[in-house]
Order: sequence, then structure tokens, then C-alpha cells
Amino acid sequence: MRSSVTNKGCPSRLAVPKELRDDYYYNALYTEELDFRLLGQQNPEFEAVLERGSHLDFNNPKSVMQLTKTILKQDFNLTVDLPMDRLCPPVPNRHNYILWLKDLLDSSSTPYFDSSEPARQVTGLDIGTGASLIYPLLGCVQRPSWSFVATDVDAKSLSYARKNVELNNMQSRIRVVGRTITDCLIPLDELGLETIDFTMVNPPFYTSEAELKDLAKQKSRPPNSACTGAPVEMVCAGGEIGFIQRMIDESLVLRERVQWYTCMLGKQSSLEVLVNILKGHGVTNYAITTFVQGNKTRRWAIGWSFGDKRPSLSASRGCEPSAGKKILPEPTEVTVVMRSSSQIKPEQLERAVCDMMVGLGLDSWSWSKQLLKGLGFVNGKVWSRACRRKKARERGNLVPVGGDTAEDESSSSRQKKPKQPVEQGTTQCMFGFLLNIQVLGDTNDKSQVAIVARWLQGNDHAIFESFTGFLRKAILSSIQEQCSIIDLHVMNYMKTYILDDPVNLTAF
Ligand code: SAH
Repeated sequence: MRSSVTNKGCPSRLAVPKELRDDYYYNALYTEELDFRLLGQQNPEFEAVLERGSHLDFNNPKSVMQLTKTILKQDFNLTVDLPMDRLCPPVPNRHNYILWLKDLLDSSSTPYFDSSEPARQVTGLDIGTGASLIYPLLGCVQRPSWSFVATDVDAKSLSYARKNVELNNMQSRIRVVGRTITDCLIPLDELGLETIDFTMVNPPFYTSEAELKDLAKQKSRPPNSACTGAPVEMVCAGGEIGFIQRMIDESLVLRERVQWYTCMLGKQSSLEVLVNILKGHGVTNYAITTFVQGNKTRRWAIGWSFGDKRPSLSASRGCEPSAGKKILPEPTEVTVVMRSSSQIKPEQLERAVCDMMVGLGLDSWSWSKQLLKGLGFVNGKVWSRACRRKKARERGNLVPVGGDTAEDESSSSRQKKPKQPVEQGTTQCMFGFLLNIQVLGDTNDKSQVAIVARWLQGNDHAIFESFTGFLRKAILSSIQEQCSIIDLHVMNYMKTYILDDPVNLTAF
């Protein structure tokens, strides 16, 4: 059988010393097909389970287990002991979940640059960690400031999980806790934790053993996961929806004590059901994604938050759901592109944007010339016509007829220091955004200049929409002579829209 496990390619991976493995290294793992022959040449124990030097029998649990152990060692320097009668986790899929979590947390944390905050102490709860303890191990290896509480209800899995903590010397960072099936799933009080950063779970997918067998008959077994799962790992009351419904119920009580509640799903149809349940409870800050592994196995994931930090597009809209766009969360990025014929230079746009923002009198605004990025926070829609009229009155100016052009704002801003405007009757919710000027394509005359507005904080998407609407109009009028612009409401999915490389935050 051909491998559908993909990998960046062994030689380049091995060339990266362990201490230099960073997010770039981890992001690149499993993006290309794994070369079993090469892996075997480098790992005698793996070579021993290969047939004819390059073929792996995915129906043989021993071979699959060796594959998992070998790539955990080679790619993450992890050592695990696994029982034959429990789930043997396919590493690429589990790694995908960790990559998504990193994106979700990094893009909704305080540096506001969609990049990691290495010193941020992050605590996660892995519900149903299994014998392998795979998620806490993968998370701790990749992020030195992460720690985990890992729970399970199965005595055998718990004893292996504890052993795997020790095998990897993670006693100070991973706590394994036994639970019973009727206990709550997120026991923050019992654990003595006031708040944590995330919960994660790969729940039992099926409602009964009969359903498991039925579904297994209908489709061929996923090629990279000879299923050694025990019933407790595969089946629970209500299947995955039942399990996650319990999590949702608990989250409605705990609310912001956990920043992100997340779950993996085995069935795409569960996404729509869960999004509707969340929306029914008024939750709008949620994220959905898919984990693609080889060309057959696909999993989905959902995360939700009661906080007001908004994640990146790649984290929140990482899939094109079969249920349609209606179940996607609101987009958190909008790009406004100047047509190449406009010949607008980045410096012109920078000046226009900065004048405009200063003129608005935001509660806080800072601009990095080096990064061409600016960060703004404000309470209320200070860009609204009513608010700007009021400000103009306070300045003692006559309000110009239709006086809502950006030029009025930006030119006056140079003369007067902005003060904090809070208008009666506007939504008093903290709204945070990042503006980033980008040059698309080559830096020759034909290149296009764009401004990307990223919604960072706030509870109301309508405010972000209103802000980007203002921004578009204001840019047009402030550089009107030669400018025509295209709005690119980014409705697309993962990775089609790429922000700058992660930046050095201390430079800001
Ligand atoms: N996280 C592992 C195992 C997933 S299988 C992996 O991804 O490979 C699901 C796990 O959830 C099993 O280990 C099962 O014992 C555990 N489980 C089932 N019900 C649970 C509950 N109520 N609380 C905690 N763990 C539970």
C-alpha cells in the first residue's frame, strides 16, 4: 500500500538540529509525502517492519505503531510507549491540531501581530489524552512555555500516559489526572485553576459499537491508522455531538475562565450542528477548520471563545464547509487594493492612513514605519458621521456640507491634538484593529499597494464592517486624484491570504 502520510522530506528535516527547531520547521512537517525507504535507512527499527524495503502494511497494528514511534522520535525527539490494544495516533493529524491551536492562540493574544509570544505562559487541558499523551507531548515540545493538564477515564491509558510523561521528562509541565465518566469534563475548580488558555479533545466519535462497525464497513479503513481503539476510546453517549454538547454546557458556565474551547470532529456534519448550537447561545467568536491528511483522511475542528480577541482568518475560517459559508464565522480581515493603474506609492498610502487615524482621535494609535503596521483601539464608532460632526462642533468648526471626507479629518488632525471622543448612543465596546500596508507582487512600477485591515478585538462584527467601509471611502477621497481601488473582502479560506512574515515585535 502506498503511503498517504506526508512529510517535508527526511534529509532537510534531519538537517535542522533539535535546538533550532522553530515554528517554521514544525509548520513544514508533513507537507510532502514521506519516503519510507529513506526513513527505514535512518531507523533500523522502522526498517524492520517494512516489506521489500519501502512498503508498510497499514493493516498490521505493529507496523503502524512503529511508524508512529519512529516519526515522533525523528521529528519531535519524543519517546513513547504504547499498548497494542489502545488507539495508535497518526502523528500528522495530531500535529495538525497543535498547529491550528498555535495559530488560534497566537492570533488572539496581546502582541496583536498574529505571531507567537514566546514568553506567554499557556496552560491547556487535554480531555481524554489517551495512552500516548500525544497532544501534551507535541504541544510541550513545540512551545517551551506551554504546560498541560491531561485527563482520561481509562485506567490503562492513564498508566501509559503517566509513563510517557516520565519517558520525556515532562513531569514539571504535564499533569495526568484520572476522571470518571460522570465527572465534569473541565474541572477547573478541582484542579485549583482559576483560568486556562484552552481545552482540547479528540472525543469518542461514535454513539455505539454498532455505529462504529457500520461506518467501518461503508468506507475503507483510513490507510494510516490501523484502528487499535478500545470501545472507551471510540464510543460515548451521543457520539461526538453528545460529548461536545457537554463541553458547550460547561463552557456556558465557565465562560472566560477558558480562552478557547476546542474539539476535533470525525464527521463534517457535526460542524453545522455545533455552530448552530453555539449561535443559539449567542456565541459569535468561533473558529472552524479542517485537518487534511494524505488524500483520504479528513477531520474537522471547532473552537469557541467568550473573549473578545478575534483570531486570524487562517485559524477561524480554515475550511470550506459542505454546509456552506453560512456556518463560517465572520471574516476578521479585509484587504483594500489600489489598482496598479493608480500608481499609488506605499509612502503616500502610509501618510494618508496615519493622518486619517490621528484625525479620528482613537483611544490609542501607534504606527511602525519599519513594519508599515499600525495598531488602533477605540471605544465607540469615532469614524461615524455623527461622531465626527460632534468633534467638529467641539473644535468650533463649521461642519462642511456632507462633511465626512477623510481630507477634512486628516488635515485638521495635523493642527489639533486629538482627544478621546466617546459619543452618546454609540456602541461602547472596545474595538481593536491592525492596519498593514502591503506591496503586492514585485516592487516594480506594476506592483499594487494594498491595505489590510485586521479585526483584533471586539464583540460586534458590524463595527469592523463599518470601520472598513469608512477606511475605504476615506482612502479614496484622500488620494483621490489618481486612485481607484478594489475591495477584497477576504471570503476565502486558509492560506490563500498571507500576511507578512512574523515580525520582530520588540522593533515596534
Ligand atoms: N487524545 C488521544 C485519545 C483520543 S480517544 C488521541 O487523540 O489519540 C478518546 C479518549 O477519551 C480515550 O482515551 C477515552 O478513554 C477518553 N475519554 C472518554 N470519555 C472521557 C471522559 N468523560 N473524560 C475524559 N476522557 C474520556
